[in-house]
Amino acid sequence: MRTSIQVCAIFTTVGLLLANIPQHRAKNSEPDPYRKQRERMVATQIDWRGVRAGRVGVRDEVVLDAMLRVPRHEFVPKKHKSSAYADSPLPIGYDQTISQPYIVGFMTEMLKVKKEHKVLEIGTGSGYQAAVLAEIVDNVYSIEIIKELGEQVKARLKRLNYKNITVRIDDGYFGWEEHAPFDAIIVTAAADHIPPPLVRQLKPGGRMGIPVGGRFQVQNLLIVEKALDGTVTTRQVMPVRFVPLTRIRKKDSKEK
Ligand code: SAH
Repeated sequence: MRTSIQVCAIFTTVGLLLANIPQHRAKNSEPDPYRKQRERMVATQIDWRGVRAGRVGVRDEVVLDAMLRVPRHEFVPKKHKSSAYADSPLPIGYDQTISQPYIVGFMTEMLKVKKEHKVLEIGTGSGYQAAVLAEIVDNVYSIEIIKELGEQVKARLKRLNYKNITVRIDDGYFGWEEHAPFDAIIVTAAADHIPPPLVRQLKPGGRMGIPVGGRFQVQNLLIVEKALDGTVTTRQVMPVRFVPLTRIRKKDSKEK
């Protein structure tokens, strides 16, 4: 009797796990070595149970699961594949980088995203952060300013079958008005101030994660929260290092 209950429980668990696999991605047929590397990455660099002292690990199982699913090796240039799961950012060309896995996990958790959320990312880069978010939420909109990177990432996300990420090539400073408001906004390049259009496009009750600070200064990861009554508060979370948020248009929202 006891055994059959256990067996039943196991089947139920497997059933639930399968039911939770998002519908917007094809079945994973990647080679096993990467799966092992990815498990090790999550266990030792991201999961609160395994990270080194002094690092605040991720507790949210939904975030940990998402990071176990996204094939990070598909988001780095060929020559860096063997380092795809290392505890560091990596170059992706055009002087840009794919963020360190830990930062991706940390920022994803701090946004407190839920399945039904609509998220805006500024700085698509490789598309890795967008993919981690897309494993969790229904819709991700992401803006990349460098045309070549934008074209590459569109092709990559299509190949990997991420149907719920929409990429646009533009200056993300102005956000994406036609899809606003957003439940969460994540900026993955360092700005010297918080772009007012992004604050406006944040839904009441929503959160934005943004690194602020100059290229040669200490940058601070900030969390911007908009309360239900529209009040905006900002808190410093931790020192970080990101590539700068660049601009292509001269006018900005202050002149509007
Ligand atoms: N989230 C990325 C990391 C991006 S690095 C990843 O997971 O790989 C930062 C990216 O922001 C770069 O690709 C850079 O070109 C882009 N960027 C910089 N300024 C921008 C702007 N104003 N609007 C949109 N993208 C910008």
